[in-house]
Amino acid sequence: MSTESRSRAWVHVDPEALHRNLFRIRDTMGSGTRILPVVKADAYGIGVERALAVFDRVDPWGYGVATVAEGLELRRLGVTRPVLVLMPAESEAVRDAVERGLTLSVSSLDALEEISQEADAQDRGLAVHVEVDTGMGRAGFDWRRAAEWGPRIAALTTRRVRWEGLYTHFHSADEADSGPTELQRRRFRDTVEALPDADGTERLLHLSNSAGILRRVDLEADLARPGIFLYGGSAGRDLPEPEEVVAVRARILLVREVPAGTTLGYGATYRAARAERWATLGIGYGDGVPRALGNQGSVVVRGRMAPIIGRISMDLTVVDITDLPEVGRGEVVTLIGTDGGARVSLEEFAEHAGTNNYEILTGLGTRLPRIWSSDGHSQE
Ligand SMILES: *Cc1c(COP(=O)(O)O)cnc(C)c1O
Repeated sequence: MSTESRSRAWVHVDPEALHRNLFRIRDTMGSGTRILPVVKADAYGIGVERALAVFDRVDPWGYGVATVAEGLELRRLGVTRPVLVLMPAESEAVRDAVERGLTLSVSSLDALEEISQEADAQDRGLAVHVEVDTGMGRAGFDWRRAAEWGPRIAALTTRRVRWEGLYTHFHSADEADSGPTELQRRRFRDTVEALPDADGTERLLHLSNSAGILRRVDLEADLARPGIFLYGGSAGRDLPEPEEVVAVRARILLVREVPAGTTLGYGATYRAARAERWATLGIGYGDGVPRALGNQGSVVVRGRMAPIIGRISMDLTVVDITDLPEVGRGEVVTLIGTDGGARVSLEEFAEHAGTNNYEILTGLGTRLPRIWSSDGHSQE
């Protein structure tokens, strides 16, 4: 392990693992299904620019983002493929979206009218994908009322505003019980059948996130939208595991020998029961280590576990290394990932914090440089 360091803490990203996860998920999709990698939230926190360079190697249909701002960023980075904005766009952003040729998802008729007016004003064409709410509830047209909204969308879409796609989103594909997903899939099929025919052109249909793809529920879909699995996050307890893409590492800034009774951190929630050795790490909740991890879980150092003690501070975290006398200042600890024979998986880390892998990845702070290297131990 190199001892050169410029950072107190960093996120290590393994591009080869990202690449292998991408191939694995693509090979799980139906043969006629094209991939639409979801790169919202800066590619789930790993850094979208470099993620795109990896994903582009499989010639994806396009990319999925959450917001217009993210779509504009992709255009700025030179992406010429379709960029689908998966969340309803705010009115204020429609103008930029049309100007830069983003593909907007549509969940209401008034939003579609706005888009159509903007396209007319700019004399520019764009594509829209209509979201169908089959049970997720947060966005989309109600699947039960397709006979009402279908013809109205058809009337509002023109050669300029092209109705290119129709999609839905599963709410429980991560769970082993396939019932809810099967029900949503049926509702989506019913919706497709209730809609007026597209004149000549086939609409692109898509349903699946990572979990849906791994369960192979929509092998006939035109597109699939994987996210978490690509980035090394498990898509469900009973589903195949991805390769580890992300590791979070921090340096020991300080080692202290403390007598029994010494208190630690805000609220003094930890008190040394004996003479102990504490290591202060250069990472805290300001970097995305959840405060909920105070007195919970462990980090890995030299292939051994060291428990987190006291509350997490904004910039520091303390671990107990009393049983690891060889560990000293400047050493690298692993909060998420593998070191030697020991590992804290992203999912274990999230579970200790009472949250999920998505929230941990997308919460990793901007103070942590993203270090892309196939060597698991390279350091900033
Ligand atoms: C985030 C998102 C995805 C990707 O989901 P994963 O569970 O990360 O694979 C797919 N579709 C939509 C609409 C999303 O919002």
